[in-house]
This record gives sequence, C-alpha cells and structure tokens, in this order.
Amino acid sequence: MTPELSIIIPLYNEIEVLEICHKRVTDVLNKLNLEYEILYIDDGSKDESAQFITALAKDDARVKAILLSRNFGKEAALSAGFDFALGDAVIILDADLQDPPELIPEMLKVYKEKDVDTVLMKRTIRDGESMAKKQSAYWFYRILNKLSDFHIPEDVGDFRLMNRKTVQALQKLPERNRYTKGLFAWIGMDTYTLEYQREPRVAGIAKQNYASLFQLAFEGISSFSIHPLRVSTILGVISALFGFVFGLYIAFKSLLLGDPVHGYPSTMAIITFLGGVQLLGIGIVGEYIGKIYIESKQRPIYLVKKLISKKDNS
Ligand code: UDP
Ligand code: MG
Repeated sequence: MTPELSIIIPLYNEIEVLEICHKRVTDVLNKLNLEYEILYIDDGSKDESAQFITALAKDDARVKAILLSRNFGKEAALSAGFDFALGDAVIILDADLQDPPELIPEMLKVYKEKDVDTVLMKRTIRDGESMAKKQSAYWFYRILNKLSDFHIPEDVGDFRLMNRKTVQALQKLPERNRYTKGLFAWIGMDTYTLEYQREPRVAGIAKQNYASLFQLAFEGISSFSIHPLRVSTILGVISALFGFVFGLYIAFKSLLLGDPVHGYPSTMAIITFLGGVQLLGIGIVGEYIGKIYIESKQRPIYLVKKLISKKDNS
C-alpha cells in the first residue's frame, strides 16, 4: 500500500541528533493516524549515523535507510529522497531539528484545506544564527531576486510539503548543479506559505560552512541567471569608452598645448585596471563554461550504496 506521507531526512554526520530526531518525528506521525514512511538519506557520513539508521530500518517497516556511496551534498541527498519516496505528499526535514517536526500536522491540514500543491515554510526568527549569517542570507535573497527571471521566495528553506505532482516535476529537472530552492521556485505550482520560527540546532555543528554557503549562493545566481555575463559586457563597454576618451584627451594635450606626455603612472594604472576587468570577464564566462562542462558529462546526481528496508526484504 502506498503511504500517504513520506518524510525525507538528509543527514551527514548527525549521530548526536538522530535518536531525538527519530523520536520527535515518530511521536508526531504516530498521532496522525495515517500511513507514513520515513526516508533517512545518509550522505556519506563518517560517524555512526549510517549504522543507526540501518538499525531503525531493520526494525520498522515504515523506515527506509538509503546510504549514498559518498558525501554528495544536501541537494543530491534530497534528489535521492525524491526518487525513493512513495507518498502522495512529501515533507523535507533537517535532521538537526531546526525545522520542528511538530509543525507537520498543521502543514497537512493546510495542504488538504487549501488544496495547494506545495506548502512553504517561511522563517520568521532565525534563533541561534549569527548576525553575519542573517545579514548574508538577507542580502543573498535580495540580490538573487534582482538577477533571476522568476521570484525565489525569501527566507524559505527546504522545509516544505510537496504533492506527488510537484515531486515528479522536480525529477524532470536533470541538472547536476542543483540549487534546490531555485528549482522549487522554477516549477511554479500553487503554493501556500506558513510562517514558523527556525530553532537552533539541538546538537552538533552546522555542516554547511561559510565557504559552502558562498558556493551555494553563487550556484544559485549562476544557475538561474545569465545577468553576470551581461555585467561583464557592460564593464567592457564602459572601460573601452573610458580608454577612448582618455586617448583623445592625451592627444589634445600634447598636440595643441605642447604638453610633454608623462605616461608611466597613467599607463600602469590603465593596464592594471584593464587587466582586472578582463580577468573578471573571463572568470565569469569560465564559470558558465564550467557548468556546461559538468552538465555535459551527464553523470548521475548521486549513487546509492545500500538501501535498507524491511518491506523489501520480507
Ligand atoms: N546535510 C547533508 N549533506 C551535506 C551537508 C548537510 O545531508 O553535505 C544535511 C545535514 O545533516 C542536515 C541538513 O542537511 O540534516 C542541513 O544541514 P545544516 O544543518 O548543516 O545546514 P543549515 O541548517 O545551516 O542550513
Ligand atoms: Mg541546520
């Protein structure tokens, strides 16, 4: 029998939180009186997380453990979750309980009452996150939306409920560079937004550090917009115009006023400036070529090492 609800939980080195995570999720789901399944996706953890979820899956037919062959990143782990989830509705949850599972009943209620395809969860307060992280998140969303051709909702993370139709639409997007929030928004569909307070991690440390978040941010921008390419064209036009006007000015000064040309400092300044502009342009173009290169290899987004499910075995 197909479950009504699938919960997808990607995890990477989360042994400290898994026990309490499983308890809180099952406490909520058991009260709901519906057929459900929980998919734990181990994204190549180096601690005992894989053993822990394997034991859970062996014990309970409603739990599946999917072990990826190495660390592919949260976005890839989510992809694996979509491919294995059977439920009519799918909810994504972080293992660190920053997205409280206690909100699941409300999400389901809204999903049924409003008859929408997706229930988005918008963060109002980001407890336990530094000022710098809040500010960078704020600016990231503003810049991203200025640049991209469709609206990507602000302060909405991966925590959300989606129906089967939305999940199938997501599976049709084959890109290797997966900026999930953008992909979610690209699909469109009817959405309803609920607000919630994002809680601090129950234990452990954030697995996505600044470097990986910056990478994700650039990923977001370059996956959904070619505006940066246009920026380099505009910079080129501006600096060419500037060079032309400056050339005229020097010719005018030396020919008409007989002013001897003292060129060295200005030449150096212009060469370094133009060198910088050119490298910037090449860098931006290179980013996009890199994307084409990676996409053209058509490698799978993730590889599964092992699938543990009581249902399949017995
Ligand atoms: N995660 C993952 N693979 C990774 C990094 C993170 O599956 O390479 C999982 C992680 O275990 C957690 C969720 O993604 O369940 C969110 O990660 P984290 O809490 O580090 O990110 P943040 O809350 O800062 O967005
Ligand atoms: Mg977290």
